[in-house]
Amino acid sequence: MTVDEVEQVVADAGERRFRARQILHWAHARGAESFDTMLDLPAALRAHLKHRFTIGMPATSVVSRAADGTRKLLIRLADGEEIESVIIPADKRVTLCMSSQVGCAMACEFCATARMGLHRNLTASEIVGQIFAARRELDRGEELTNFVFMGMGEPLANYPRLIRTLTIMTSEWGMNISPRRITVSTVGLIPAMERLLAEIPGVNLAVSLHATTNELRSRLAPINQRYPLEDLLAACRNLPIKRRSRIMFEYVMLAGVNDSIADARRLLKLLAPLRAKINLIFYNPFEGSTLNTSPRAAVEAFQAILKNGNLTATIRESRGLDIAAACGQLYAEQHTAA
Ligand code: SAH
Repeated sequence: MTVDEVEQVVADAGERRFRARQILHWAHARGAESFDTMLDLPAALRAHLKHRFTIGMPATSVVSRAADGTRKLLIRLADGEEIESVIIPADKRVTLCMSSQVGCAMACEFCATARMGLHRNLTASEIVGQIFAARRELDRGEELTNFVFMGMGEPLANYPRLIRTLTIMTSEWGMNISPRRITVSTVGLIPAMERLLAEIPGVNLAVSLHATTNELRSRLAPINQRYPLEDLLAACRNLPIKRRSRIMFEYVMLAGVNDSIADARRLLKLLAPLRAKINLIFYNPFEGSTLNTSPRAAVEAFQAILKNGNLTATIRESRGLDIAAACGQLYAEQHTAA
């Protein structure tokens, strides 16, 4: 809940408004798992809250740990559905990869989550809950520093819950996380992209591009039929991106599909008018997929062309491959049957 909502609850219980911030401090800063522990609240208010609301952590059913320190959490929701979140330590950063939906409706050809179809949207409490669940799995001295919506689902297809989540994450009465540390990754839902940056200024945007022609992009990411490349890039050009900040474009490298020198040249042309950087991602295979990842040499040649054209191009190393925790491998449905 937001502070306004909790203030209303508190007022309805006949208590002073400042109690709302006290409750939220217990929840977010101190990680309280029950109202009983909130000892500086009047007993009557604690009882009132206990009868009407729930506070607590999601249950983590399985945590797998990869050789590289990446941890994948399988989180069980109240209705039995399951989602995955991934903790990715790298140098001084510890990034949490968060899910926004159970499954996904976007049907991208190269993504395991797409195979589930969309089961349902996550609530804001289920999305925020992933942060609490992840904190439980941190090693001593570790702290989450970055948050990316690159797990299961299309965050902008769950727009109201995403905004509620980001509000809770970034508000000083909530988790007090700087929006600069949060990245929302989208397949390119144009109207929601524009609204997002207006509502949560400073949040980072990542756009999954993957192709340089409408023909190929429509095959890889069918939403391109609704929001074609030229519209997507035009919208990106007009987004209110903060000074010294850039839109990140993601590009999954698929052998013989989108990884040619000609693709790299077209990409350079498409992104030249934008404040952009590009992240090349090794394709991570999953069961039942027929695509192959580009060899490292091809990815590096592709990167070299972009760099020569003055585009910042990085290669995303796949993390947690051995536990199927890498990009595009999140698929929790098999576990629900068990
Ligand atoms: N729906 C959002 C966020 C989830 S996907 C989006 O499309 O951006 C997060 C990133 O993982 C996207 O860039 C997506 O294209 C990439 N991805 C999906 N499947 C992948 C796979 N099998 N290998 C590598 N990256 C993949």
